[in-house]
Amino acid sequence: MAKNISVKTIKERARETKVIREADVIVVGGGPGGIGAAVSAARNGADTVLIERYGYLGGMGTGGLVTIIPLLTDYTGKQQIIGLTQEWIDRLIARNAVDFPPEEHWGSIDKELVRYYFQRSFFMTRLDRVSYAAIIDAEISKYILNEMVEEAGVKVYCHAWGTEPIMEGNHCKGVIIESKSGRQAILGKVVIDSTGDGDLFPYAGIEYEDNIPPNFRIANLALCFWVDGVDLKKANEYRQKNPHQFMELSRKAFESGAFGGYFTSNLPDQDSIVWFHNRYANKSQVDVEELTRVEFEGRKKMMKTYDFFKKNMPGFEKSFIVLSAPQLGTRSSRRMVGEYKLTQKDLSDNQPFEDTIAIFPDLDRGQESLNHPNMYIPYRCLLPKNVDNMLVACRAFSSDEHVQEWFNLIPHCIAFGEAAGTASALALKAGVGIKQVDIKALQKQLSKQGVPLPDVTKKVDYKYTGPALTTPPFGAH
Ligand SMILES: Cc1cc2nc3c(=O)[nH]c(=O)nc-3n(C[C@H](O)[C@H](O)[C@H](O)COP(=O)(O)OP(=O)(O)OC[C@H]3O[C@@H](n4cnc5c(N)ncnc54)[C@H](O)[C@@H]3O)c2cc1C
Repeated sequence: MAKNISVKTIKERARETKVIREADVIVVGGGPGGIGAAVSAARNGADTVLIERYGYLGGMGTGGLVTIIPLLTDYTGKQQIIGLTQEWIDRLIARNAVDFPPEEHWGSIDKELVRYYFQRSFFMTRLDRVSYAAIIDAEISKYILNEMVEEAGVKVYCHAWGTEPIMEGNHCKGVIIESKSGRQAILGKVVIDSTGDGDLFPYAGIEYEDNIPPNFRIANLALCFWVDGVDLKKANEYRQKNPHQFMELSRKAFESGAFGGYFTSNLPDQDSIVWFHNRYANKSQVDVEELTRVEFEGRKKMMKTYDFFKKNMPGFEKSFIVLSAPQLGTRSSRRMVGEYKLTQKDLSDNQPFEDTIAIFPDLDRGQESLNHPNMYIPYRCLLPKNVDNMLVACRAFSSDEHVQEWFNLIPHCIAFGEAAGTASALALKAGVGIKQVDIKALQKQLSKQGVPLPDVTKKVDYKYTGPALTTPPFGAH
């Protein structure tokens, strides 16, 4: 029998595990969802612990080198995602570490403006309009996110894996963490899974799905990397003057097993850096052998790409690989089947739920997005069915693969976190379970925190009457 398909098991010995901390709220995973959850829970008065497996916060938004915060406005130019996402951007503005179209341009259909922003970053245009998307500095963001959790009074454990929920029936009493300090326990009243991958689901008995059709964007892992020392002026001139040769070179790059395209950073003083955001089809986002395979394949492809560009692409003669992502890029994996599962039908229903906790602009589905400009997110899609004190605040929220394809993004996960953290703190204050939290009080508090919410008593009656689209949908993050 091959070594890797062994069905052998062993019995581990029972052991005493030291309890190192007790808290009101434990958040596992310090990515966008975890930041939103931890900061909101702590700001609302909960004693909060955040557990992160790496030495920095931000998840894909920093360590994955996915430094684009898109889709903040709807197609009319109205900002629909504000809250902690905007606070992160505001703090970056203060350090001149972010690029985005100014407010007066959001929603503009002026062709010159749209062309200008499209060239800057195609995330800054959607549906023939200027869209509010922010390109952020990864390193400054790591610092800023530390600042935000520190100021909120969150107790953070870095370099610690949340490995197992401590279950008593359908109640989670805390989390086992593993680190250089060994195996330790943290006890809590509410536990929030913000691992992105739903790492606690299998052990908490939380129902989940992990099927992703292979043709979906979210079915791909990534190993992003940055190349510095590029003469972008020369590269851009070549591209503009020789579009056919450029296309031919990109085609040859693909044929040779390299990537053919790159993004520019646009950030101040980063005009010699380009980003490669790649895709690797894979069988699983949580299988250790698959993750290892993609790390190795990714590094080979990175070298091929670098060699090809340096040898063939004008402007890349003096370039060098400055950074590869410290963590693999994961767009989706386990998805909870929670108290409410958002489906493709909800995308087109366009109606607020009574327990709406966020509004997400729908800008990626072409003409369909003009007819259904916003999607409403119910609190129940953060709640597991059969565990009474856990929430899910990350891309593992309860949805089908279609909703996940559009709304797994950074600002969206921050919004899940903001709702989950706030709800946890309010429930604890009121002495009730998270499933019994007063929804109106939660919505009131979220509004106070700058989260736009609809009037849930009114039906949205919407008909788009503007011009038809001239460009196809993107869906390329
Ligand atoms: C190549 C690529 C391009 C993308 N492009 C965009 C884009 O342009 N804009 C956009 O908004 N989104 C984009 N996305 C999607 C987006 O980055 C993610 O969906 C988003 O970051 C999800 O946030 P999250 O908090 O759910 O998970 P993550 O960002 O994955 O964060 C999870 C955090 O939990 C930690 N963690 C995981 N497991 C454990 C554990 N067991 N114990 C302790 N800590 C743990 C991780 O280290 C990480 O910090 C892209 C993704 C990829 C891969």
